[in-house]
Amino acid sequence: MEIKKKNTNIRCSVTQCKHNMLSENYCGLDCICVGTHEQNPTVPECTNCDSFVKRSSTQG
Ligand code: SF4
Repeated sequence: MEIKKKNTNIRCSVTQCKHNMLSENYCGLDCICVGTHEQNPTVPECTNCDSFVKRSSTQG
């Protein structure tokens, strides 16, 4: 079983990500990569967490 530790420096509400701590709204990774899908990002919606991994239905 994967042991996750809350990283209090990275808050995240993306509960569909397997790295999310779910009940606490924190990321469990030591660091993440943030990128963009836009050529000229202007608003937060232009950015992505590139460390996102979809949670499988068997993970809690
Ligand atoms: S990897 Fe990114 S999307 Fe996933 S919990 Fe961490 S910050 Fe959120």
